[in-house]
Amino acid sequence: MVVSALDVSVQAQILNLLAELRAEFSLALVFVSHDLRVVRWLSDRVMVLYHGRVVESGPTLEVLDTPLHPYTQLLAASVPGRVRQALDRVVHEPPSPFELGAGCAFRPRCSLAEERCGREQPLTVGAQRRLACWTVSAEAPPTTQSVSSDA
Ligand code: SF4
Repeated sequence: MVVSALDVSVQAQILNLLAELRAEFSLALVFVSHDLRVVRWLSDRVMVLYHGRVVESGPTLEVLDTPLHPYTQLLAASVPGRVRQALDRVVHEPPSPFELGAGCAFRPRCSLAEERCGREQPLTVGAQRRLACWTVSAEAPPTTQSVSSDA
């Protein structure tokens, strides 16, 4: 079901219905969305994908309030009303999927990228909070701004 193309009031009715059905029947729902406000409202856990790969996952509020992966930071900064510092520094156009090479797909946009990022796809590690990044982990969050305008 695609709700993004619907009138806002109809969209809200459908989302409310999904929430009610989930609560009443103890359903597990997989909800795919670019709207982080809806994700925050509806989901207990979230998986963030970039170019078809999971880059971060965990409890929704934790991931959205303290994003660790550089791409999740960019997404969180793109929500209207949020601090846009990370967004202002990024190359807005993602690279072509045909030009990504072997390593991390986010590398052309990431200021934390190191040599290994261009060679190897990062492994997804962690327990409750899982990340696919060679330099950032849930145990060692980033200490510098990780989204760059350098391509
Ligand atoms: S630090 Fe490396 S692995 Fe992590 S997001 Fe940046 S380019 Fe990808």
